[in-house]
Amino acid sequence: MRVLVTGGAGYIGSHLVDRLLELHHDVVVLDDLSTGNLANLHRALPNIRFVKDTILNPDVVDELVAGTDVVFHLAAAVGVGHIVEKPLSSLITNTKGAENVIEACVRHEARLLLASTSEIYGKSAKMPMSEDDDRVLGSTTIARWGYSTAKAIDEHLALAYAEQGLRMSIVRYFNSYGPRLDPRGYGSVVANLMRQALDGEPLTVHGDGTQTRCFTFVNDTVEGTLRAAFDPRGEGLVFNIGNDTETSINDLARMIVAMTNSTSNIQHVSYEARYGKGFEDTKRRIPDVRRATDILGFTAATPLQAGLTHTLQWWRTTHQ
Ligand code: UDP
Repeated sequence: MRVLVTGGAGYIGSHLVDRLLELHHDVVVLDDLSTGNLANLHRALPNIRFVKDTILNPDVVDELVAGTDVVFHLAAAVGVGHIVEKPLSSLITNTKGAENVIEACVRHEARLLLASTSEIYGKSAKMPMSEDDDRVLGSTTIARWGYSTAKAIDEHLALAYAEQGLRMSIVRYFNSYGPRLDPRGYGSVVANLMRQALDGEPLTVHGDGTQTRCFTFVNDTVEGTLRAAFDPRGEGLVFNIGNDTETSINDLARMIVAMTNSTSNIQHVSYEARYGKGFEDTKRRIPDVRRATDILGFTAATPLQAGLTHTLQWWRTTHQ
């Protein structure tokens, strides 16, 4: 099949591209290299068409979607740090950019896989989080929730077009991690803590560190994405794609210190010191994985220790 991956030079997107090539698809990548990086595609580049441009350019999007069977829409402003620092451009990319991609899929009758996020659930306290649950967000004066809201608009748009015949599926990612994480790119706690441990700096844990996440190894994230996109039973549906083992940030920091044999200590820093005044965090986040398991036969099975070991091996070989 001919597939288009927007955000294909990004951390998850580039792994998806590698898998699509292994499956012998004809791959086109559209990426503006804002948080993505061409080095992520070093193996793939000779075998793909790479277009450096933005999803905010409707003509380019239209031209690339024409004749494409499946569009994987992963391009987005991502990472809490970026969203809080650049709320306006993040909102524009994540709404207008997504609209360009979704509407091009409608025009050209391409199948759409929309990458969304567990941030959709906001600070909901209901655990585990199921796809049809209520969303619980804070005030519009808190920039973080703009990301959740923008992604929710994309989901609504795709779901509404599905009623008119668009073939699409939506995946909500839960804290993906693995090789190619970039502290300066998408960021994320795993990227930051691993870099700090290896550089002998204190590991900065925000708040009291009792907040939890369910960390999902990137190969699992990609496998769930592929199944949602290619399995006809996934059509029209939203899926949580995540591992459901809950880990506190304190425990994550301790694991990273132990496995890197780091001399670093763990330092608790306030949310305000990191993100400025009026920041709100999500205290817990656990996916209900039953829909993905029952319909797609998918489980994110990689244990955190094994996934971190792979990530660390990659880090050591690429950051010497
Ligand atoms: N976090 C942290 N230290 C860091 C980066 C993040 O303690 O250097 C915390 C962050 O405040 C949050 C959790 O780790 O509670 C996960 O953050 P991340 O940005 O990776 O993803 P999120 O799930 O918040 O989108």
